[in-house]
Order: sequence, then C-alpha cells, then structure tokens
Amino acid sequence: MPTAFVTDITGQDGQHLAEFLHSQGYHVFGMVKGQNNPRVEALQAELPFVELVPGDLADLPSLVAALQMAQPDEVYNLGAISFVALSFSQAELTANITGLGVLRMLEAVRMVGGATNNPIRFYQASSSEMCGQVRETPQTELTPFHPRSPYGCAKVFGHDIVVNYRESYGMHASSGILFNHEGPRRGIEFVTRKVTNAVARIKLGLQDEVVLGNLDSKRDWGFAGDYVKGMWLMLQQDQPDDYVIATHESHSVREFAEEAFRLVNLRWQDFVTVDKRFSRPLDVNYLQGNYTKAYQHLGWKPEITFNRLVEIMVTEDLNRWKRWQRGEHFPWDASHHLNEARILTRSLKV
Ligand code: GDP
Repeated sequence: MPTAFVTDITGQDGQHLAEFLHSQGYHVFGMVKGQNNPRVEALQAELPFVELVPGDLADLPSLVAALQMAQPDEVYNLGAISFVALSFSQAELTANITGLGVLRMLEAVRMVGGATNNPIRFYQASSSEMCGQVRETPQTELTPFHPRSPYGCAKVFGHDIVVNYRESYGMHASSGILFNHEGPRRGIEFVTRKVTNAVARIKLGLQDEVVLGNLDSKRDWGFAGDYVKGMWLMLQQDQPDDYVIATHESHSVREFAEEAFRLVNLRWQDFVTVDKRFSRPLDVNYLQGNYTKAYQHLGWKPEITFNRLVEIMVTEDLNRWKRWQRGEHFPWDASHHLNEARILTRSLKV
C-alpha cells in the first residue's frame, strides 16, 4: 500500500486530496498543527481513514518526527498561510510559513529519505499568485513571476527553492502552479465561497446583503476536486517538473456573483454592495492559465466548467443552511469561517 503525507490536511485541497488518494488505495497521513485545532474533529468525522500526525511548518524537528513516523512514499506540501488579503497585515508570518515552510519540508524529506537517491517524491503547492501583475496572457510555466502580495512573494520563494533542491540534490520534487480552485469546502474568506454562502443565506431570508471589494478582478476559477488529481499525476511521472493547472477561462468577481444570484432567481445588483474595506493595497487584476503542458504530459484537463462550479457551490450552501433551518445539522464550517472572516475584516485591511 503506498503511503502519502499531506500538510494542511484540514484545508480544502487536503480534504479533496485525501479522498482521492484513499480511493487510489493509499494510506494517508495528515499533518495538523496547533492545540485544540477546531477543524480536527470535523475532519475525523468526514475522513476517518486519515491518520493524523502533529507537526508545524515553522518547526523543522516536528516535520522530521512526522515524516519518520509516516515513512511516506509521497509528500504533498499544501500547508500555507493562503489568504492573500491576510498576508498584507501578517507578512512576516506568511513568509515564514508559506515560504520558509517549504524549505523546512524539503530539508525534512532529505533528512528522513536520505541526501542522495531519496525515494520520497515531493509535491509543492505553487500558485498563480506568483504571476501577479501578469507579463503575458495566458500564463504558462515560463511566464516570469511578478507577485503582488507578501503571499505571492512567499510562494515564489517556495517555488524557486523546490527547483533548486531538484537541481542540486536530484530530488523528485515537482510544483503545481495551481490557478484559483474552489468548491463547497473553500474557506468563507475567499470571494467565491463568500458569495455562494451569502446567496444561500439571502435566498433563505437569513441575510440582507453581501459586501464585496474589487468586482472587476478576474480569475481562472476551477474545481478543487479536479485539481488534486493533477497533483497526484505529477508525482507518478518518471521525471519531476512544474505544471500549470488551470481551466484557461477567466471570469470577473462580478460575473461570479451574477451567476450565483441568477441560480436562485435573484438579481445580484439588488444585494451586492461594495466597500473599500474589502479592497487590497495591491491586487492581481487578471489571471488566465494555459494548462497545455499538463494536458500533454499528464493527460490532465479540467472536468468541471465555470457554470457547473458555481452551481455546485450554491447548491451545497443552500442545502447546508436548509438543514440548519430544520435544526438537523449545523453548518459548522460556515459559522466557523464566518467568525474568522468577521474578526479579520474588523481589525485588518483585507
Ligand atoms: P485570491 O485570488 O487568492 O486572492 O482569492 P480571493 O477569493 O481571496 O480573491 C479573488 C479576487 O476577488 C481578488 O482580486 C479580490 O480582491 C477580489 N474580491 C472582491 N471582493 C472580495 C471580498 O469580499 N473578499 C475576497 N476574499 N476577495 C474579494
């Protein structure tokens, strides 16, 4: 039975990846950080096959101990401070976890798997945010980076250090330059889920409006469930490499909101208001990824279209809040993230 080790197992991608690897017959170890991590209980209920291991990307000895325990064939480093808006106000923390965390993870892999002929395969979650102020459209693996946030800068370091370890030590280390990927498990601080959660609550009479920032910003939004297959495929290749995973389609925040409200027969203009509070000091205005290399080398392509993605998310949020209204099930993740988002937006410029 192959063994995989996943950091940020409680995040959106960690959950999708764990499900996928489990379906492929893997034994999945998931790293969780912190004391009383509130997401652990929900994860154990939803994905009981995952074996949890304590560890923190800020703490190299803990990573070594976690890998020694798991003895994985494959390591998926998904862990990061991943909310771009937060990275402006917690830039040092972001650099430490999102950037240096990659270096620590690579070092831990070298310590546990050996300095030469290391058998452990490594996946790094790189990001389209590295392209930032894009130099060409659509973006490929060769597009020069121009990050526009501390998060993007930290991801560039992570990406470059993976290439460096691959070239220096012959590690089987690959990076997926993943464009935005969403789904019902997306945190509510991200604009897609913020919108679909609000649409569901507005439709059910639980909320009056949703306040957003930059509506003109355009993203290449895909479905997270499709994207984790790309991660896995990268580690099944004889040679490590970097790949863009995207849909090649770009839509604005306004279009996303329009489609989400349309699905419940409402007009977005009647419920969306704009407040500078949700604008960033600097934003990435346009992203569109070219996934030709992933298609040619890995046979990967996105399955879920933009409209279907919005539909999946709206439907799931409607179901969650309907269950809650019937007193059947509390949408713990929505309320948890909502609280987090409230705290963030009160005290920080996000
Ligand atoms: P990102 O691409 O990783 O930053 O993903 P987000 O979902 O956080 O943001 C996507 C885009 O939506 C960015 O350009 C944001 O500026 C824009 N946006 C507009 N309004 C909002 C909002 O209320 N919250 C968030 N998170 N983003 C917003």
